[in-house]
Amino acid sequence: MTGSGRINGIIIDETQQAMARGRPVSLRIEYERPRMPEKVVIIGSGPAGCTAAIYAARANLTPLMIEGFMAGGQPGGQLMSTGVVENFPGFPQGIDGQELMQRMREQAGVYGARQVMEDVTDIQLDTKPFFITTSEGNHFDAQTVIICTGATARRLPLESERQLFTHGISACAVCDGGLPMFRNKDLAVIGGGDSAVEESLHLTQFGSRVYIIHRRDQLRASKIMQERALAHPKITLLWNKTVEQFLGEKVLAGIELKDTITGELSTLPVAGAFEAIGHVPNVGFLRGQVELDDMGYIKTRPGSTQTSVDGVLAAGDVQDRKYRQAISAAGSGCMAAIEVEHWLQEKGLM
Ligand SMILES: Cc1cc2nc3c(=O)[nH]c(=O)nc-3n(C[C@H](O)[C@H](O)[C@H](O)COP(=O)(O)OP(=O)(O)OC[C@H]3O[C@@H](n4cnc5c(N)ncnc54)[C@H](O)[C@@H]3O)c2cc1C
Repeated sequence: MTGSGRINGIIIDETQQAMARGRPVSLRIEYERPRMPEKVVIIGSGPAGCTAAIYAARANLTPLMIEGFMAGGQPGGQLMSTGVVENFPGFPQGIDGQELMQRMREQAGVYGARQVMEDVTDIQLDTKPFFITTSEGNHFDAQTVIICTGATARRLPLESERQLFTHGISACAVCDGGLPMFRNKDLAVIGGGDSAVEESLHLTQFGSRVYIIHRRDQLRASKIMQERALAHPKITLLWNKTVEQFLGEKVLAGIELKDTITGELSTLPVAGAFEAIGHVPNVGFLRGQVELDDMGYIKTRPGSTQTSVDGVLAAGDVQDRKYRQAISAAGSGCMAAIEVEHWLQEKGLM
């Protein structure tokens, strides 16, 4: 598309061209009156949002994807802050996380999805159509909404963590544990819940030894997971320890630990550190209008992406406390778009 165009009342300034060049831009938005509600608004531009946008666009729903800007990560989602992704199908040599996301966003644009780089700050779900407000003060009416806002991995608030993140420090052992830099090396997992134990067990396949660093004297993980960890010959539990700082110039070389009882400092030489201290689903803007589970993830109907509000669907990490992978997020994004299409057909809104 050259110059500006207009789809469903939204003026588009060379957006498709810019996306084809791999440069995401925000749309200039000007509603005509009376405005038509969007058939579907997708919130978030990680693997779930982009996949939903690709499917919805190919179903001629001309989806609007509100990509996010500052809230809950960044446009493109969590993979924008990682290096090589080795487990996304179709890339036998792996693919850089940013490149993968740029390709997904571009693919959505190629089929006609429109993208605005703004955060959703408020949404009204008790009106029909739904009413969405963004950080730029734009408003959108939507017949259906797909929420793909992800979950933010909790990270230790240390300067050394920020410097060495992706250089030996990771927030996802399932994603990064198999990288060559961690093979046959001593590794550490920080945390004491089920995720920490699961990640430690996963890492025993690659590392020579896996230390679990836990600030208390017993794990929070379920009994069966605890037993597995305690019985594993490669796992060593370090009780009552907190991370004081991560050590290393360009890559992680070790961790300075502090004993929570004696205050004593010690050094643990490891080549990898995996933070397993929880995730926070990005649901603040929903203001409790959608039912959440006890950990704050959006509840969806089993085998579906339908939430507690009819016409509001959720895909990706924001509704997935278990898998939290790019491919599972993409899969549920696909499901959500197909469900939206069926929903609109049933209501005669196509
Ligand atoms: C360091 C790291 C490495 C990883 N490596 C791998 C890997 O190798 N392989 C793998 O399969 N998985 C990996 N993962 C996990 C993977 O990134 C996630 O499972 C996946 O990105 C989830 O996709 P999503 O679309 O649900 O959410 P996200 O990718 O988190 O995207 C969320 C989107 O929502 C937007 N958003 C949030 N709040 C708002 C708002 N209020 N308004 C508008 N937009 C909003 C954000 O800007 C973002 O675009 C990794 C994760 C991390 C943190």
